[in-house]
Amino acid sequence: MVKGSRQVGTLRLGLALGSVVLALGLAMALFFAATIVFTQSEMERAESRAVLYRTSVEDALTRLEHLPYVLAQDSMVIRAAIGLDRYELNRRFARIAELSDAEAIYLMDKDGLTVAASNYASELTFLGQNYGFRPYFKTAAAGGFGEFYAIGATTARPGYFYAAPVYDVLDKLVAVLAVKVDLLPLTQAWNNSDERILVSNADGVVVLASDPDWSYRTLRPLDAARREEIAQQRQFGTEVLPALDWDTSATNTVRVQGERYLQVALPISRQGWTLHFLGNADRIREQAIFTVITAAILIISLTAATFFFRSRRLRRALRASQEDRVRLVKEIEDRRAAERRLERAQSELQRAGKLAALGELAASVTHELGQPISAMRNYIVAEELASAAPATGLVAKLSGIVTRMENITRQLRFFAAPGNEKMQPVAISEVLSDAVNLTRHTIEEANIEISIDNMAPSATVQGNRLRLEQVLVNLLRNAVPAMEHSDERHLSIEVRTLENEVLVSVTDTGRGLDNRSLETLQEPFHTTRRSGEGMGLGLAISTAILKEHNGRLTAEQCDQGGARFTMILPLVEIEDND
Ligand code: ADP
Repeated sequence: MVKGSRQVGTLRLGLALGSVVLALGLAMALFFAATIVFTQSEMERAESRAVLYRTSVEDALTRLEHLPYVLAQDSMVIRAAIGLDRYELNRRFARIAELSDAEAIYLMDKDGLTVAASNYASELTFLGQNYGFRPYFKTAAAGGFGEFYAIGATTARPGYFYAAPVYDVLDKLVAVLAVKVDLLPLTQAWNNSDERILVSNADGVVVLASDPDWSYRTLRPLDAARREEIAQQRQFGTEVLPALDWDTSATNTVRVQGERYLQVALPISRQGWTLHFLGNADRIREQAIFTVITAAILIISLTAATFFFRSRRLRRALRASQEDRVRLVKEIEDRRAAERRLERAQSELQRAGKLAALGELAASVTHELGQPISAMRNYIVAEELASAAPATGLVAKLSGIVTRMENITRQLRFFAAPGNEKMQPVAISEVLSDAVNLTRHTIEEANIEISIDNMAPSATVQGNRLRLEQVLVNLLRNAVPAMEHSDERHLSIEVRTLENEVLVSVTDTGRGLDNRSLETLQEPFHTTRRSGEGMGLGLAISTAILKEHNGRLTAEQCDQGGARFTMILPLVEIEDND
């Protein structure tokens, strides 16, 4: 038993653990699936954002790329290149720079010395500065079109430089015209958005970045020769170009200074640059976790709802089965009651059958024995008269026996059913006085006091007077032997009506009913009387007679001892003609 319950306990624990492991497994699978889906959608979003940023960078870089070439054709520029009207050119450059939103427009002689500049009036003017070391100058001075990214040697502001050669009327290269585009507004715009972008050049140096801390750092190591070259071009001014904490070992993602990002890298059409768009990788994890939690809440709610509805269904079924049970129990009880009623009816039938047989027997026996017994009585009287002497012992004995036989036949006659019973209105008072008169002698002989209280003198019933008398006589006679051993011998008869019935009760101070029910007492041949004195049929017959009259008999034990028998009969309405 204990072993069995322990096994059940282990099984339950195993099931619970299994469920937990399964739930964790499902949650993890869902987490990974959601991560894949969200990574994909985040990558798609990052790609489209990267394309957008690349366009804005390319726009910024190409916006003014033709300006140096156009200005190099300008006659005023050519004149200034050969040393004429340079001051006017300064003003002209300033106006063009303002209109075209260029940071600076300037003219350098063949050695790189700036001879005219749009920022001629500024403190940090290019005028008088030599930019002969810049690659864009070198390219243009060699007759080509130069372009170059660099931190301004004078302003320390990063910018994109374009340069074109200027030829005199003899087609001789006499100067170089350069335009600088300011790239700071671009990065400032990035800075204000919450997106992370950086642009690296062909050396892997970050030239533009949304995060100022990332600028002028390297994504991959630079060798010493290249560093030396960059230093000579003064491309990054005084910047030492340290390495950026940049880890691209994981696919699609990059770790920058410890932070993880989704990376989309797109080439830019200038200078071998690359744009890196860094998408939010944490958001993917947050979305995946949110999905798992939502799914868990959904599943838990669904499970709870299922349990709730199931238990409600079960409760209803239980209630229905309980109601069925109660109905069934009631049906069983009803059936048992019906069986009991049937048994009673059967036994009553049996009793009625017995009584009917007995009635016939009694009628024939009293008829057959009546003649011989009265003949014997006559012989004995004749013998007594003939001898004139007091009766001898034998005659006296025979007389006693004849008396006893008469007694028995009298009782038997009582049971004999009269042939034609006529039912008619019978006054209960008359039945009562007749019955008392018939029994008075016996009652007085037994020293019994009798009292009559007739509270319904006019009570009338429909019936057979003699038969009803028979009943009452039987009740009065029964009281006599019951009080045989009583000190107080009192017999009280009471007549009263209750609703539409008349009740005649006979109460004695005898030995009582000894816990016997009326059913037992009215059982044919149930008697406590000595042989020859009673046959145990009086109450059975009385009950049958009352039943014939639609009445009934009750018996009860009195509180102060003794028994009370009550015959109850329905009253009839007598029309009063007076
Ligand atoms: P019998 O009088 O011939 O015995 P009954 O049918 O009249 O037959 O009575 C059956 C039994 O009921 C009696 O033997 C007696 O034990 C009991 N009985 C009847 N009337 C009384 C009574 N008034 N007090 C006590 N017992 C009674």
